[in-house]
Amino acid sequence: MFIIFAVNICSYYMSPRPVKLRKISDPPIISGFKPYGKNKSNGKPDLTFLNLEEYEALRLCDYLMLDQLQASSLMNISRPTLTRIYGRARQKIAEAFVLGKQIIIEGGKIYFDSDWYNCKSCGCVFNNPDKQKIIGECPLCRAKDFTNCSEFSHKSKESLKRKRNKK
Ligand SMILES: [Zn+2]
Repeated sequence: MFIIFAVNICSYYMSPRPVKLRKISDPPIISGFKPYGKNKSNGKPDLTFLNLEEYEALRLCDYLMLDQLQASSLMNISRPTLTRIYGRARQKIAEAFVLGKQIIIEGGKIYFDSDWYNCKSCGCVFNNPDKQKIIGECPLCRAKDFTNCSEFSHKSKESLKRKRNKK
């Protein structure tokens, strides 16, 4: 089965200072979490936004139980950077848990390993579950125009602008 989700890469290009991209080996299979049984509610949902590098830090350190040095090398970042991202991720999860907030997983200054593709037509990101097979079209919109996600970091501002104008 293909896994598809949208990634907000625009924020990276708009940030005032260039940030080193963080490598994601295994993107999340869900786009968030919802609490249930909340007693006090002000009507609108309280949201906590967990970005993809924070998700990846949690996955590596708390799920796979790697130490921070291993996790940082897998994400291709320094250990202090990993520690910072990981700390932020845990703080957000704790806050969502204690305050009964929804968790939305999206965005981040990231790139994927070579098995992930980005559709130029609908903007979705999908993986190749069968490495023996060559991907011919986007599983969502069937467009044949897509790029390998390792090219994310080299995308020009022009191509992003063009994509935004199309919407
Ligand atoms: Zn598509």
